Amino acid sequence: MTDPTAVTERATLLSVDDLVVEHRTPGRPLVRAVAGASLSVAEGEVVGLVGESGCGKSTLARAVCGLNPVTSGSITFGGHPVTPLGLRRRNPALSGIQMVFQDPYSSLNPRRRVGAQIADGLRTGRDTTSSPADLLERVGLPRDFAGRHPHEFSGGQRQRIAIARALAARPSLLIGDEPISALDASAQAQVARLMRDLAVSSGAGLLFISHDLSVVRLIADRIAVMYLGKIVEVGRTEEVWNDPRHPYTRALLGAIPAPDGAGVLPAELPGDVPDPAAPPPGCRFHPRCPVAMDVCREREPDFGPVACWLHEPA
Ligand code: SF4
Repeated sequence: MTDPTAVTERATLLSVDDLVVEHRTPGRPLVRAVAGASLSVAEGEVVGLVGESGCGKSTLARAVCGLNPVTSGSITFGGHPVTPLGLRRRNPALSGIQMVFQDPYSSLNPRRRVGAQIADGLRTGRDTTSSPADLLERVGLPRDFAGRHPHEFSGGQRQRIAIARALAARPSLLIGDEPISALDASAQAQVARLMRDLAVSSGAGLLFISHDLSVVRLIADRIAVMYLGKIVEVGRTEEVWNDPRHPYTRALLGAIPAPDGAGVLPAELPGDVPDPAAPPPGCRFHPRCPVAMDVCREREPDFGPVACWLHEPA
């Protein structure tokens, strides 16, 4: 299934088609972490990928970067197939993809000055005109921070440094893998907006992965909702936000903590994500779905943009 909501007026940067990624661990059942997902990102576009922990978002992102072997399906970036990283040699086309990871504490080398780490990115992008101080300025930090070590900064500042290092390589696709989940609430929206502004102003695409739909809504042009290895709904952000159609998307939106008049939070999403090693037959969401029908327990809704029998295309 190709991405039916892909932006057609801009060149496609990233195309993920029917991607399957399986993990084999000796003595344990096979886990299909990504079970046939399709997604695209165009130049200058921000796509938010949302879903609960363990739904396969990060596995998909790592496959896009060549960090996870692909079982079947395809990934193309800039028209080139993405292949897993070799032990010795990185596919040169993949230097155009840079990733910002969840944990700003472990993604930076504690022993090296931040300026030296940003300079690594400048060399990757063959940028001979910018300096590490220029990059720090672009992410809203003082230029003289280049001479300091990571432990001297807050979590939000470290994530800005990680973003500066990623941007230094002049990526055409930036991927944020839960880049705000380890930050204070006050820093989350700032860092998310910064990533959007920097990516879009440089013409790059941004795939922003988060379990926080309310922040993704602030920055994404399109939202893709992932559940148990599959994209279950994809669409323009305001359409998904104002008129969610998949019952899982509705449940995610209903679980966003927003105090009502009595100061009570809305109901949490019921149930747990099933074990990806033994997914339910039919629609994977049916054990948690409040409107499940007989067909849902028997046949998988393998279509888009909303993978639900209530929204089968004509
Ligand atoms: Fe619910 Fe059926 Fe739609 Fe799945 S296909 S989300 S079980 S209504």
